[in-house]
Amino acid sequence: MQQTQVACDACGAQLVPNAAYCERCGARTRRARRLVRLAIRVELLFFLAFVGLVIAFIWIYSVQR
Ligand SMILES: [Zn+2]
Repeated sequence: MQQTQVACDACGAQLVPNAAYCERCGARTRRARRLVRLAIRVELLFFLAFVGLVIAFIWIYSVQR
């Protein structure tokens, strides 16, 4: 597994364990960036599923008429 980040990538300050942001400069930690990417991916997936559903409903409606 990936090692826990102990210092900030931007300023080198020591980080609180499992911190999302650096307390000195406010930069996101690697763990937080990974979580944000994951959240964006999940959000995108939900959005695409919703768009697909809408398209499917429009298609079914136009076919049945
Ligand atoms: Zn920092």
